[in-house]
Amino acid sequence: MFRAVTAKEAQINRLKAEIETADAIIIGTGAGLSTSAGFTYTGSRFRQYFSDFEDKCGFHDMYSGGFYPYKTPKEHWAYWSCYIEVNRYRNTDRPVYENLYKLVKDKDYFVITTNVDHCFQKAGFDKKRLFYTQGDYGLFQCSVPCCQTTYDNRESIGRMLKEQKDMRIPSELLSICPVCGKPLTEYFVLREPLIFI
Ligand SMILES: [Zn+2]
Repeated sequence: MFRAVTAKEAQINRLKAEIETADAIIIGTGAGLSTSAGFTYTGSRFRQYFSDFEDKCGFHDMYSGGFYPYKTPKEHWAYWSCYIEVNRYRNTDRPVYENLYKLVKDKDYFVITTNVDHCFQKAGFDKKRLFYTQGDYGLFQCSVPCCQTTYDNRESIGRMLKEQKDMRIPSELLSICPVCGKPLTEYFVLREPLIFI
């Protein structure tokens, strides 16, 4: 006996056929793709990493914590180093990006994304075929900004995370622009849109 194809299956079949026959594919994505891969900013994943900040500051999700007015840069970076570590340098639980890559890797593809968590690059997408319009958690920029340079933050973030105590990083770990001597800051557009390079 034949089972009727559901509306959802029909949509998936159509998408599959379009992907297989398309000359080129443009992918547009936002936060939902990373949420589906396991990068949730609320609930148990938030509490796993930030219950101390929740108790002290009173916010209940990572996104809100990013806008919290910390009293000092040392507290700001205690929060942000953990945030960047878990949302940029750790891998997602589910292979959503990897599966998407398998579907398009032999195609002429291009990605436009508001995501700043670097998941496309980690899954194998070619950097030249990506336009991440809002930046990348893995980079710093000058807070002035005095120039258009970005700086890889892997090592700085790792040390801030490791050496912080009582929700503060040591002052010597605050990152400074090598050109003008002002603080470096996160390279993404949401928090400081006016200085985003
Ligand atoms: Zn500078």
